[in-house]
Amino acid sequence: MDKELRLRITTGSLAEMHRLAASVPNTEIIGLLAAAKDDPRFVTSICLLPAVATGGSATASGAAIRAAMARLGSLGMVSAGVFHSHARFSVFHSATDDRMIERLFSTLAGACMATLAEAFEPQLTDQDRALLPLRDGRMLKVGIRGESIGGGFDRLAWESARLTFRSDAEPGVRYVHPIVELFGQRSTLELQVPDALTVEITQIEAPHRAATLHSVVVNAKGDITVEAVTVLDINGRIFQERQAVDVETVNSSVSRLEPNLHFYLYREEQTLTVAGEIQSAMLSETWKANGHKS
Ligand SMILES: [Zn+2]
Repeated sequence: MDKELRLRITTGSLAEMHRLAASVPNTEIIGLLAAAKDDPRFVTSICLLPAVATGGSATASGAAIRAAMARLGSLGMVSAGVFHSHARFSVFHSATDDRMIERLFSTLAGACMATLAEAFEPQLTDQDRALLPLRDGRMLKVGIRGESIGGGFDRLAWESARLTFRSDAEPGVRYVHPIVELFGQRSTLELQVPDALTVEITQIEAPHRAATLHSVVVNAKGDITVEAVTVLDINGRIFQERQAVDVETVNSSVSRLEPNLHFYLYREEQTLTVAGEIQSAMLSETWKANGHKS
């Protein structure tokens, strides 16, 4: 697993997710992971969302998510991803979760993309495409070019793709048929072009931004699984890359860490459609518990 992409989270936030999941063991819950804007890769808080929830799903409205993001913004924080529970069921990313990530994460990433350093690493963006951001703001777009085979609509695809790591160096490209090498700052993507096809390399003048967020699935039994979701904005086109990652917990007893925000939306009780069980379980826990002034 890629250590750079693992979820860094405070022990308090992690415990809180599990506690919430266990407090309504027959209902899914969903919320945002939150991080300080200047350190968006370190989750210090969670923010439960009002949701339409059953034992098999929890869906938050766009309005609720926007309200939560605005609230985080006002606190100097950004959304660092999404957590949800699977009630008593096992933890994994379901087809429904895949759709949720596709729909939500590009929006969530918007708030922290600008705050992340840009990565000058090659990206395999499709089965016949790859991109390499250069330091000067240009991107190299690499794709396979070929005659249509049999007049059909067969998709072209790299014969092989291999990512290796290298010591810090200047990004660039080398093409000696049939191998294209995209050299990133710290990784090299080696692509093999299929027989009878050639490579087309074009430059695009484009802002290129990336942010890595996390999707966390917990359950009432205390299990957890995490995927890192890297959102790439390349010339207005959004790509997502996902991989399973480990969790690194950081003791949250340090006072400068943000307190958990999990309850704030419950001040708008009347807007809640479900998760009433959680409300009663949680209302006793207030901002005051963390010494927070609203
Ligand atoms: Zn799920």
